Amino acid sequence: MEINGQTNVTSQLFGRGTSNELAASLGNFVVTTMPVPWQFVQERIGGTPLAVEMVDSMEISIVEEAIDRLPDCDTVLAVGGGRAIDFGKYMSWKRGCRLVSMPTVLSVDAFVTPKAGLRVDHRVEYLGESSPDPLVIDYDLLRLAPNELNIAGAGDLLSIHTATLDWELAEASGRSEYPFSGDDVSKARQILAQVDKEADEIRTCTDRGLQAIVDGYMQVNTICLPADHYRVEEGSEHFLFYELEERLQRPFIHGQIVALGIYVMSRLQENRHGEVVALMDRLGLDYRPASLEIERDQLEASLLALAGYVRQSGFWHSVIDERSIEPVWITKLCDDLYGDSRQV
Ligand SMILES: [Zn+2]
Repeated sequence: MEINGQTNVTSQLFGRGTSNELAASLGNFVVTTMPVPWQFVQERIGGTPLAVEMVDSMEISIVEEAIDRLPDCDTVLAVGGGRAIDFGKYMSWKRGCRLVSMPTVLSVDAFVTPKAGLRVDHRVEYLGESSPDPLVIDYDLLRLAPNELNIAGAGDLLSIHTATLDWELAEASGRSEYPFSGDDVSKARQILAQVDKEADEIRTCTDRGLQAIVDGYMQVNTICLPADHYRVEEGSEHFLFYELEERLQRPFIHGQIVALGIYVMSRLQENRHGEVVALMDRLGLDYRPASLEIERDQLEASLLALAGYVRQSGFWHSVIDERSIEPVWITKLCDDLYGDSRQV
């Protein structure tokens, strides 16, 4: 897909082996990473960093303290998944130095978004403003990650299916928080169509499939950055995830828990549920709560509490505000969700 308009990537280095010997182009550099990705990357890039920061906590006080301690450098090289990339983004913004982002897995879109997610008093806040120069996408490197984690990246693109309908519902009831744009909705749905078209490539993590996920993320930015909100990509499917995260107090693979939200909310919306579930199956995107280690009674309790939680949190207007989630509906839903996982 062609990337038109504003996106948040200053330059890009996409291909096989693009991380090889990269250090030569970085000047003095500091690496922000985690042990597993660094082990894969260290040899490939060559050179010797001034320091390697193993990112553990994203609590703002700990991050700030680490940044104060790290040496002066020309470049921050952020290597890994969400947290290591967010740390690098935040550091490059604080220091005003160059950022090079090198995701080692596509499960979250942190590597193309300008703000870094940090914990402030145990809540996530999005801070700073950064742009990778370049964004390094090395297909060989990405394929070292388990396929299902790269495929999970498609979850944050498929959320367009439910999120755009939520936005339409909000607009129809006069409760949209932002000026509604039918043009943005149709552009976002083109991204969905592209994921559908490339589903087989994504499932097998070919060069083309991995690139389709990256392009999808960048395309979302061309819609969301000018609008200054992520309404086309975030709706009721994310709200269920937030409730579950608060209830269960543990991390999830983002794209998979969002996929569970897409399953549930497309059904509540009566929004081509069978079609989107079939697409998730074709992608090999796992949405089953049993794989996410969510017990049936936990999911049931979450769904019962969801409308109240969403109202209390002041989340955007969505199908959750429009249709009540009845116990009998939840039972049928869970029969299907947990029944499916027993058959597999
Ligand atoms: Zn998301």
